[in-house]
Amino acid sequence: MHEIDEAVKKLGASRQTIALTGAGISTASGIPDFRGTHGLWKAYDPSMYAHINTFYEKPDMVWELALKLLEMAHGTEPNRAHHALAAMESAGLLHGIITQNIDNLHQRAGSRNVIDYHGTIEQASCITCRTTIMPAGYSVPVCSSCGRIMKPAFTLFGEAVPAAAFLEARNLASFADVFIVIGTSAVVQPAADLPFIAKENGACIIEMNSEETGLTNYITDFFIKGAVEETLPLLVSKMVK
Ligand code: ZN
Repeated sequence: MHEIDEAVKKLGASRQTIALTGAGISTASGIPDFRGTHGLWKAYDPSMYAHINTFYEKPDMVWELALKLLEMAHGTEPNRAHHALAAMESAGLLHGIITQNIDNLHQRAGSRNVIDYHGTIEQASCITCRTTIMPAGYSVPVCSSCGRIMKPAFTLFGEAVPAAAFLEARNLASFADVFIVIGTSAVVQPAADLPFIAKENGACIIEMNSEETGLTNYITDFFIKGAVEETLPLLVSKMVK
């Protein structure tokens, strides 16, 4: 496959390679994309159950969904695509992952430099005093400092992404020689800006998706079509022996 071989050449010459991942990398692990038609999203409309206003009014509703997601994430394993990226990082060929996923699967696969752009399912934080904890078990955590119900530490609709992640991701994207878009159509703002920031600063854009996206005929230099749990291990096998 010509595109893969061209991508391998670019990756071999890159001094900073950054990956942006989305829901498509975790579907093979059994985590449904919230834009899909999975039954979970019929039972728990994300525009309601994952909205900051719902948290203010009925935090238990948000936690009902959050605990389901946490249980789901703990019941799955990283797949071949997550492992391929971890192998790239170990080999010095990948310098950072910006993930829009909250499932912690990159970290569980062994990736170390991961920016949880939309936060993580594994933590909870207090919106009053900012205390952040890793809740034990599957119950709704209450802040030990101020007694309020804590918020799941992932970004809800109507909420800004964590400031540190936002700034670090922009910085990584702007200095990338190669920017790989994996399993995402990158339409959710502000993550959608990242491939454009990379491109404007001279990066080569490699896109790996099962279908063409709005990026493909716009800023993508090399489009590698297919399920990423197939294409990523193939790509990495050409670089890491
Ligand atoms: Zn508190």
